[in-house]
Amino acid sequence: MIFAARSLFEDPFSSKIIVRVDDVCETMDWDRFLYFKQGLERLKIKAILGVVPNCKDESLSLHEARGDFFDLVRRWRDYGDTIAQHGYEHRYNTSDSGVMKINNFSEFAGLSYQDQFQKLSAGKAIMVNQGIWEPHFMAPGHSFDDVTIDCLVDLGFETITDGYGFYPYKYRGLVFVPQLFSQPIPMPFGVQTIAVHTNYESLERVDNILKFLKIRLDNVISYSDAANEKLSFGIFKDMCRNLTKLLIQAQRKKPVILKWCFKTLNWILYGKNNN
Ligand SMILES: [Zn+2]
Repeated sequence: MIFAARSLFEDPFSSKIIVRVDDVCETMDWDRFLYFKQGLERLKIKAILGVVPNCKDESLSLHEARGDFFDLVRRWRDYGDTIAQHGYEHRYNTSDSGVMKINNFSEFAGLSYQDQFQKLSAGKAIMVNQGIWEPHFMAPGHSFDDVTIDCLVDLGFETITDGYGFYPYKYRGLVFVPQLFSQPIPMPFGVQTIAVHTNYESLERVDNILKFLKIRLDNVISYSDAANEKLSFGIFKDMCRNLTKLLIQAQRKKPVILKWCFKTLNWILYGKNNN
């Protein structure tokens, strides 16, 4: 705690950083994805890639399907990226916001155990057949419920890239590696996951993220490193988790709350509002 407080003023960005890329599929915007991916590889960064096993989401149909998609996923896996199963079809079936309560749409939350198990196991079977399955899950829309978690555990999954707080933790048998923000925030401790949706990001934002990562290269770790970290529990970690949970749920009701928190944090760190 004392170390965290001291490093807050020495280096407000000293947390560990994981890079996560969502919506990796045959029909993604390949130019945008490869631009970011090659930028990461130039920096020798290993990311976690959310691969959609059987994409039926029309909003991700941005390019003619590439026949060598799974060959490329195997190449990325061999390079050292972590491969996560990003749902099954990436099609939203319910309006249940699940455990995270971030979005009011889900491919899984609210469905029965049988329905969720069937979808998740069908997705896993595709990935196993392609030799790319790893025990990591990335929920489309961050939406999943306790039933999803039970199905994932029963199917042999071990981790999920989602959750509150700034440290990995275990819940219902699954390791949660927190993912809260789409852009880096000043944080002097813990681990943060930066989620990048290359299909929709502007080149300017992608360049800014790459520039930030280049400066902070020593802080970047792979997802597997974070997920394999020995889990320990403590008051500070629990406090972070509960605080971020409260803030995110409050944010859904009153969007100004999180903005106000960031402004205050900026003011504490830099003594002025730098928007
Ligand atoms: Zn997605």
